[in-house]
Amino acid sequence: MTGEVLLSAHGLTKAYAGADGELPVLGGIDLEVRAGEVVALLGKSGSGKSTLLRCLAGLVPASSGTVAYRGEPLTGANPGTAMVFQTFALLPWLTVRQNVELGLEAKGVGRKERARAAGQAIDLIGLDGFENAYPKELSGGMRQRVGFARALVVEPDVLMMDEPFSALDVLTAENLRGELMELWESGQFPTRAVVLVTHNIEEAVLMADRVVVLGARPYGTIRSTFAVDLPRPRDRRSTGFLDLVDSVYRAMTGRPKDAPGRSVLGSTPLPSASVDGLSGLAEILARHASDRSDVADLADGLGLEVDDLLPQIDALELLGLAEVSGADLALTPLGSAFARADVQESKRLFGEAALSVPLVSLLATSLTRTPTLRRGFFRDLLSHHFTSEQVEGQLETATDWGRYGELYAYDAATATYYLPPTPPLP
Ligand code: ADP
Ligand code: MG
Repeated sequence: MTGEVLLSAHGLTKAYAGADGELPVLGGIDLEVRAGEVVALLGKSGSGKSTLLRCLAGLVPASSGTVAYRGEPLTGANPGTAMVFQTFALLPWLTVRQNVELGLEAKGVGRKERARAAGQAIDLIGLDGFENAYPKELSGGMRQRVGFARALVVEPDVLMMDEPFSALDVLTAENLRGELMELWESGQFPTRAVVLVTHNIEEAVLMADRVVVLGARPYGTIRSTFAVDLPRPRDRRSTGFLDLVDSVYRAMTGRPKDAPGRSVLGSTPLPSASVDGLSGLAEILARHASDRSDVADLADGLGLEVDDLLPQIDALELLGLAEVSGADLALTPLGSAFARADVQESKRLFGEAALSVPLVSLLATSLTRTPTLRRGFFRDLLSHHFTSEQVEGQLETATDWGRYGELYAYDAATATYYLPPTPPLP
């Protein structure tokens, strides 16, 4: 890429104030966005994508490091960007036209010019005929078109999009992506660069010239960057496309070395995968030859996208039930036995596997010393390392796993863990 640098971040870090001190979300990000390119910021949920986008847009301040627009460090909202949100964020009491004009009003553009520019953006994005409709009269896809028109009407240098398609159904999302990319390729797009946040690998490879993968362990850093040189419009079934999806998938799931000096509880957050979900995936793998499958094929066969399976894949790996090698996922001998066992045996095998997970093992061993333990105790321990959202998610997983493996029981009414009574001898 040789275009002019529009956005740049150097040594950007961001921490949010938590109940227990600062929680790091972004650690030392260096990134440039140049004229003419579409950049995708890809990462799992919680990896700091939205935070990075907001820092670049000047909507939240960096904790340290700099963010600049055309070389000028930001002191507030970035004048060269406009944002499209996942949830559309339209004002329900305004019509389509009024919603689109909002961005211009904020810039002090006069009434006549506003009407002209809004009309043009509405046409461009395929909303003509809906000018006087209210958001509640529109389908999700049409609402998001309003979101796009509202951002494009100000002709920002850089269009920022935060998971703009993920609240739409599959077909609507695909249609809107296609139309946007056509506009971009035809040069009719009134912006010079695009930054797209997504957790969807295929969406990133479909749309971007460069895919920047954020890792979440121990906190948001750029894990790798991929140049996408595939011709446009891109064919999801071409070898080049599938190969790149595989490589990006590997970068996203590969286990980086955990930072030294962190306690066992602080290293790898437990994935949000229920026993039902991960057993389901293990059983599907067990139906494949030699208990293994290419991950992209596996997702395809289920009508899912690769990233939908990431929490379950992480969980199987963490439990030692499966291994990722290259683009394949394969059951281990333990995983193979687990997938084929009857309920009692599967509980026993699962309980053993779950004891290798630090949080589960801590819960189980603590309970051998004291009859009951409050959830709040573990919440506090974990809050040294994770945000409250991550803490609750992990406790939910640990509760589900330990209960299934019969390592401990949990009473939701009192939020306490206890050891299950030993069954009476027959
Ligand atoms: P992503 O968009 O990749 O899912 P986010 O940037 O939204 O990630 O969030 C990264 C982490 O920062 C999450 O664990 C989230 O809970 C936390 N976080 C995000 N916004 C705030 C905030 N305003 N205050 C405190 N924590 C936050
Ligand atoms: Mg987000």
